[in-house]
Amino acid sequence: MPITQARAYSATSPTSPLAATTIPRREPTPRDVRIEILFCGICHSDLHQVRNEWKEVMPTVYPVVPGHEIVGRVVEVGSAVTKYVPGDLVGVGCLVDSDQSCPHCQRGNQQFCADMTLTYNFPDKHGTAPVTYGGYSEGIVVDETFVVRIPENLDLAGAAPLLCAGITTYSPLRHWGVTTGKKVGIVGLGGLGHMGVKFAHALGAHTVVFTTSSSKIEDALRLGADEVVVSRDADAMAKHTGSFDFILDAVSADHDVNAFISLLGVDGNLTMVGAPEKPLSVPVFNLIFGRRSLSGSPIGGLAETQEMLDFCGEHGITADVETIAIQQVNEAYERMLRSDVKYRFSIDMASLKG
Ligand code: NAP
Ligand code: ZN
Repeated sequence: MPITQARAYSATSPTSPLAATTIPRREPTPRDVRIEILFCGICHSDLHQVRNEWKEVMPTVYPVVPGHEIVGRVVEVGSAVTKYVPGDLVGVGCLVDSDQSCPHCQRGNQQFCADMTLTYNFPDKHGTAPVTYGGYSEGIVVDETFVVRIPENLDLAGAAPLLCAGITTYSPLRHWGVTTGKKVGIVGLGGLGHMGVKFAHALGAHTVVFTTSSSKIEDALRLGADEVVVSRDADAMAKHTGSFDFILDAVSADHDVNAFISLLGVDGNLTMVGAPEKPLSVPVFNLIFGRRSLSGSPIGGLAETQEMLDFCGEHGITADVETIAIQQVNEAYERMLRSDVKYRFSIDMASLKG
């Protein structure tokens, strides 16, 4: 298979920093689109996987090239591509392949396909390399099915995080019927959480942010929260006992999820999108009384990702980003661990050429 080399950043072990490298990319097949990457967001999942924190579920294969919040411009299309032409502004999220025939794929829910391929650190069906390589790179080649269109009115650096942080919060909010009249909590004001606040607000819900960082209160209100609770304040937490229809938990580290289950009303649901390394402890009586439910949600399918992007285009929604050069990526990881980012890093991929 014909291959071209692309500049990228990779890590070669759980403890080594990300550094410049080159990686193979396949030449476009008839169904493929070649994309020049303009911006790539930094998701906490990138850090989890670079450091092999999800080794129980999906051990990292090194070298790893992270990045699944990709925005770029189409530079070449295969002969059978119908949706895109060179020059189009497009995005690629967490998925780059699936069987495209199962009932989930037929409905555009490729995230549930038993044979899906994640954008990085997943066996590469095309055999270009042992595993897929993600968006910390100058370019990527992707089947057009897994490419979405970016509304022209959106700032591109701020649009990149929509491809993971955006869809991962939009999808469960829609699934659980978040709308006007519902009381909704968002736990953890990070990359995912701040998108959750924007969407819950735009969908009309009474939105309450739970944060461990009192320094984020003003921001939470500006982002669309109706109320902010510092979750370390037990009295402030107790005032909300039994009152929520839905809570979205976007915390990346070990924390007391039970404290938030207690805030759900009868038939309330708490959905985990945050994926901490260690299992959470859940006393079941807190679920039994009140018939509360606890669930999880993975990213979203391609159809809903396009719907989310169009929603963002209509409502002028993008992530609040700090744009960085790729040479700053290791420092950005340390700052993300300290919750010191407002509220997503977006890598300007032009820096890779510098
Ligand atoms: P992030 O930007 O680092 O945000 C995480 C937030 O969690 C922080 O800003 C902080 O918010 C809170 N937090 C951090 N440490 C905490 C602790 N020890 N106790 C309580 N709260 C803490 O991360 P992200 O990119 O939004 O990702 C969040 C999680 O979602 C990660 O685990 C990531 O892997 C996962 N994720 C899942 C999916 C999916 O499909 N389900 C997709 C993408 C990402 P405050 O300062 O407000 O407390
Ligand atoms: Zn992500």
